[in-house]
Amino acid sequence: MTLASIDSWPLQRTQPLVVAGPCSAETEAQVYETASALANTGRVSLLRAGIWKPRTRPGSFQGIGEEALPWLVAAGKANHLPTTTEVANAQHVDACLKAGVDVLWIGARTTVNPFSVQEIADALKGVDVPVMVKNPINPDLELWIGAIERLSLNGISRIIAMHRGFSGVSNAGYRNAPLWEIPIALKAALPNIPILCDPSHITGDRSKIGSIAQKALDLGMDGLMIETHPRPDEAWSDAAQQVTPKNLESILSQLTFRKPTSSDQGVVNELAKLRCQIDAVDQQLLQLLAERMNIVGKIGNYKKEQGLTILQIERWKEIMETRTAAGNDLNLSNDLLLPYLELIHQASIAKQSNIMNNDQELLW
Ligand code: PEP
Ligand code: MN
Repeated sequence: MTLASIDSWPLQRTQPLVVAGPCSAETEAQVYETASALANTGRVSLLRAGIWKPRTRPGSFQGIGEEALPWLVAAGKANHLPTTTEVANAQHVDACLKAGVDVLWIGARTTVNPFSVQEIADALKGVDVPVMVKNPINPDLELWIGAIERLSLNGISRIIAMHRGFSGVSNAGYRNAPLWEIPIALKAALPNIPILCDPSHITGDRSKIGSIAQKALDLGMDGLMIETHPRPDEAWSDAAQQVTPKNLESILSQLTFRKPTSSDQGVVNELAKLRCQIDAVDQQLLQLLAERMNIVGKIGNYKKEQGLTILQIERWKEIMETRTAAGNDLNLSNDLLLPYLELIHQASIAKQSNIMNNDQELLW
């Protein structure tokens, strides 16, 4: 098996690129021990360790700092692993380049700040080192794209996006909500930028890393960054989400890496046939939706004539109850039905409001 390598660009899609290593470099021995165990798995392409740690509250461990840089670089060299760490300002960049770190990454708390990203991009002018850009902590696709553009405009040609989830939004049991639609939108906007997933920071919980990692690969992501520590429970930061190198091996061995496309004409044809069926169904759905909106318009005119309100709460409740029940009988989940029904209702109210008041604005 050939490992995906950060040196071959664009990244090959035959294997996911795996970045692993501790959340933080704690001691020289810990970095060496982790690096050697990771090299022995034969599955890791890049060794990570946090040197400067962005912590929410002061008083928690904020990283060893520059003193730990040579530990990382030497542990990587000794085990034939290129290395990466997080940089948050120009000083970090200079220290890393001087020490010989191979790949840099911009953390989620830095991607939110265009001043910091620009400072890093300026410090990297003329040095074409690969840079991984984590999503900003808030779900703002434009900020993520903006950070990538700032690097690209300064001549950085190997940029990798990294999805690590979003805070401050409903998180469905994760440390950071995945909001998969955002990395998908990034892929649509910047198809040539590889995307890795960081299931450690999404889940905050080592038992959930495998399932998030599989989902990331199934969405066509190019690799994973997984925090690894020889004794995770004793880690100085992010203990609950770190895994041992053995555990990492087992997580990776259970993942299925699927190809984005097939070269087998039979497979291509079969998929095309099924997609034709989807196209036909979508056409019918759209026609029905348009028909429904026409009736909504007729009802709006009738309500206007009769002096009736747009919102009829009893009718709305009845629609929600009967449609979710009917949908459930057809094996459709409420995760799909509820937002779908809400959206249709909102669009219907907006249409009737337009009819009654010539109100061009959507109510929501
Ligand atoms: C990290 O990878 O250790 C880290 C601090 O990540 P993030 O920027 O995603 O919080
Ligand atoms: Mn961490």
